[in-house]
Amino acid sequence: MATPAVDVLLGEPEIAATVERLAAEISADFSDGVVLAGVLRGSVPFLSDLVRALTVRPLVDFLAITPYAPNTGRVRLLKDLDIDVAGREVVVIEDIVDTGLTTAFIVGEMQRRSPKRVAVCTFVDRPARRVVPVELDYVGIEIPDEFVVGYGLDHEGRYRNARVLAVADPELLATDPDAYVAALYPA
Ligand code: IMP
Repeated sequence: MATPAVDVLLGEPEIAATVERLAAEISADFSDGVVLAGVLRGSVPFLSDLVRALTVRPLVDFLAITPYAPNTGRVRLLKDLDIDVAGREVVVIEDIVDTGLTTAFIVGEMQRRSPKRVAVCTFVDRPARRVVPVELDYVGIEIPDEFVVGYGLDHEGRYRNARVLAVADPELLATDPDAYVAALYPA
């Protein structure tokens, strides 16, 4: 099958610069330290880079969300944080905010636990399909209404470890999930 052209939104240098900028913003706002609450699994590459670029002391923890049932628009906690966030300053770390359902649920969950502050940092913001309004405190890149893969973002588990953020055609992926392997994993 022919290799499709791939539209790279952020290459490795742009990703590194974006992470540095976000780390500087977060470091400036949380001089007393911060809990980074990573949303599994897409945020892992981003969080891994971010945490090493911070100049403040972070505690790192993870949570996972799953839909209640397909197309219900409702989600539930699959894995909770181990850290008690009461009285602490928390930054939720997302790969992408799309409909906002995941982020709104997590922020609500965190707020019930009496933290000192909850902020949200997302590497990618795609506001076009927003269903629930969410306040985003730190945004890496705002993108138009297109499906993206790479730097943590997957299609059926593929492309999470691609080093760039790229636009992918969902119709092509439906027929050939490996369509972008050659383009995104150059030899
Ligand atoms: P939400 O619609 O804002 O709740 O986003 C739910 C989740 O869908 C995100 O955390 C991503 O894991 C996934 N997702 C949304 N858009 C994309 C995309 O363009 N590529 C890969 N995953 C996505």
